[in-house]
Amino acid sequence: MRQATVYIDSQALQYNLNRVKQLAPTAKIVSMVKANAYGHGIKDCLAALNSTDNFGVACLEEALEIRKLGYQQPITLIEGIFSEEEMDSVIQYGLECVIHQSAQLDWLKARKEEYITKNLKVWVKLNSGMNRLGFKVPEIIEIINSLKAEGFSCVLAMHFANADADHPLNEQQKTQFLQVKEACDPVLASCCNSAAIFKWPELNFDYVRPGIMLYGASPFADKSAHELDLKPVMTFDAAIIALNQIQTGEAVGYGSTFVASQDMQIAIVSIGYGDGYPRAFIKPNYVMINNKPAPVIGRVSMDMIAVDVSGLTVTLGTQVELWGKQRLVDEVAEANGTIGYELLCRLSNRPKRILK
Ligand SMILES: *Cc1c(COP(=O)(O)O)cnc(C)c1O
Repeated sequence: MRQATVYIDSQALQYNLNRVKQLAPTAKIVSMVKANAYGHGIKDCLAALNSTDNFGVACLEEALEIRKLGYQQPITLIEGIFSEEEMDSVIQYGLECVIHQSAQLDWLKARKEEYITKNLKVWVKLNSGMNRLGFKVPEIIEIINSLKAEGFSCVLAMHFANADADHPLNEQQKTQFLQVKEACDPVLASCCNSAAIFKWPELNFDYVRPGIMLYGASPFADKSAHELDLKPVMTFDAAIIALNQIQTGEAVGYGSTFVASQDMQIAIVSIGYGDGYPRAFIKPNYVMINNKPAPVIGRVSMDMIAVDVSGLTVTLGTQVELWGKQRLVDEVAEANGTIGYELLCRLSNRPKRILK
């Protein structure tokens, strides 16, 4: 059988969830499991994250999967619902909506009694400068105060555009958030993703919304998962399926872009962009074999890559770590001109998935 495997380490996931608890001891934790738990597989991740307070997802379909698997925690729909019909499922399955559009406000109010009876919170989104979703100041103050007057329990919600960096917009976003929080006092509040959980403990408030840190990758470009005391949850492995001796001047792979400058031994590994391994590297890339780096040479194909194994002890079937505990996904992402989030989310269904 083709060895292309995604291992999920549920203890690492639990360890990272405990890191969130350490960093935000008084806040409830909304574990973000959108996009199939950042590509890790929703079913296995829910089991490991079962001690979380809430889950956060991007759409109704993702929320219904959680309910189908039997989990009862509150679920926040971070973009809210996309049509009035979805309100039926919201009520039936007890889902909590983000409200960022006045239409959503109308849909919610039309089902007011049921929503309130079910004890569901309304997450009202502030646009404090990211300019994706939300109401601006002062409109949001009126909205929250009128929802409260109607008996709704509200969470003021906001998302930082630059929590991972020093950026002047951070101050503006914080100031506006605190201003609205005060003007709507008392109101529940939530503004921290992973980066903000690390950076601004004073902003943890009632709910924190960790995503990437749960999976053991770093939200920061300049700090590794190890430095943040996070444990990588995913190990992406494949195996050597051929070993070739090539001579100086011979080329490898499509486009013959790699030409050997000396005689060398290369290994063909059964992994490619059809599995979600990225193709377009902007920097030299390598994989790990028995804890040693082996450079990826030539182009990544759909099903195979070639690596330079000169000087390494390898045989057919030797395991190769594409990313995981030795080679961090964030490092592969950096060589690929992207972020760990993207590589994790865009894995295909082809690799086997094994829970450890
Ligand atoms: C995805 C998401 C998060 C989690 O962000 P990370 O950077 O992965 O921690 C938090 N809040 C909202 C609204 C999100 O969409």
